[in-house]
Formats: sequence, structure tokens, C-alpha cells
Amino acid sequence: MMAKYSKNISEQMALAAQKAYPNECCGILVGKKSEQSEIEITEIREAPNQFQGQKAAHFKIDPLYLYHVEQEIEPRGLEIVGVYHSHPDCPAILSKEDYEYMVPGLEYVIMSVQNGEVVDVKSYKKAMPDRRSA
Ligand SMILES: [Zn+2]
Repeated sequence: MMAKYSKNISEQMALAAQKAYPNECCGILVGKKSEQSEIEITEIREAPNQFQGQKAAHFKIDPLYLYHVEQEIEPRGLEIVGVYHSHPDCPAILSKEDYEYMVPGLEYVIMSVQNGEVVDVKSYKKAMPDRRSA
């Protein structure tokens, strides 16, 4: 079950990806999770790419930034539901590194950016450890 989000949200993500090109953009997906763990993304927060080194192929979000976003959205009944980032001149496929850092239950949106334009968007989720699926 993929997350639901409006056209406005996808436009905001695409804009962030285009702006960061040829580097990777990254940010936080904010929204709500139902009891069936269905995710609805209602807002995004652009995060600075804190990776030390090749930002064209890596991203890192400062944990303190996550904390601040959490503090800000919690009073409104919202939570962090995922992370988005871009793959400049690469397909929207999870890298080994992406997969390793995934938190189960969160939504991961990857955008493929070719020549500064978003050409593909894919979502991924890592299964909860107790009910593993390939
Ligand atoms: Zn990636």
C-alpha cells in the first residue's frame, strides 16, 4: 500500500529535486498514519543534505533536524511518515545504502532526475521485522 499525497506535494518534491540538481535533495514527509499503517502525506520539509562528500550520490539528514520537525508537527497531530530524496541522472531505484538506512514502516520516495527534470518517482517501504516479505 503506497502513501497517498496530493499533486501539490509531488510538485513541491519535484521542485526540491530540480533545485538540488546535480546533487541529491532530501527531506521529510509529514502526515498521518492510519491504524492499518496507511500513510497520507500532507506536508514536506526540505532538509539540507548533510552528507560530507559526494552529494551527487549520497544524502544525509541531520538527526537534530528530524527532532526539530517532530517538535513542530506533534502539537498538530502530525508525524514523520517518511523521507524523500532524489537520484540525479540515475533511476529511481533503492541503492544498497538506501535500503540499509530504511526505517521499517516509513515511506521512502525516490525521484529520478535527468538533466534537471524529474522523470520518474517511486515509493518504497521496508517491511516490519516481525512479518518479513521478500
Ligand atoms: Zn538513494
